[in-house]
Amino acid sequence: MRGGQGMARLPKTCISELSNIIDILPSLNAYLNDLHQRSGQLEQERERFAGLSLTDDLTGLGNRRALDQAIQQDRQTNALAILMVDVDNFKLYNDTLGHLAGDVALQTVARIVKQNCARASDKTFRYGGEEFVGLLTATGREGAMAVAESLREAVEKLHIPHPGLESGILTISVGVASREQGDITHVEELLAHADIALYAAKNSGRNRVCHYSEEHVSTDAHPA
Ligand code: GH3
Ligand code: MG
Ligand code: MG
Repeated sequence: MRGGQGMARLPKTCISELSNIIDILPSLNAYLNDLHQRSGQLEQERERFAGLSLTDDLTGLGNRRALDQAIQQDRQTNALAILMVDVDNFKLYNDTLGHLAGDVALQTVARIVKQNCARASDKTFRYGGEEFVGLLTATGREGAMAVAESLREAVEKLHIPHPGLESGILTISVGVASREQGDITHVEELLAHADIALYAAKNSGRNRVCHYSEEHVSTDAHPA
């Protein structure tokens, strides 16, 4: 038929086979559409589960697995800063107000962390219980300290009551470590530095921001 010959020149058996095929074309088409739609739904489900496996249930931030993935993707020579955030005296907060109130406070702090690490390339994670991490790309020491300080201040300004404390409000401490463009410090080392800086902030009174310095390694014992 493609060659320009009409149906009439085909043998009768071919014509009947062709008309059978033509008859089932609409249902074949519907079947293929259905298959296409279902494979699209499956792909959406797969993406949803992949997202869930990288998300912290309580806060909606990236979870520890997501942080590990981000660390793997790090281009070692780009400027990068890490904020390690820890809620102050949070055990006492839970003990005084209960675990549910504690959960709500963690959600609030997570929201503030996210709001303050707001550039498109910034990433935020729940690192563990009451600890959060911000990864700030293309950010040097000064920029990172400014973000950390505004984050600390934002939590303080919320005046979330912490009846167990003399100050009466919930606060955070932040450890900061940064790598300038061209440095080859690995991001895992930066994380360790941010952790050391965090405990320096805790040791110097809490509700403060501290940048990593080599002096911290010898002067501040890391708590167990
Ligand atoms: P510091 O100022 O030195 O950080 O003291 P802290 O009390 O905050 O630190 P500590 O590590 O002693 O206590 C952390 C508390 O965080 C203990 C734990 O019950 C609480 N916590 C961890 N994960 C969760 C959570 O998902 N929900 C609630 N409500 N509490 C949590
Ligand atoms: Mg902690
Ligand atoms: Mg704490």
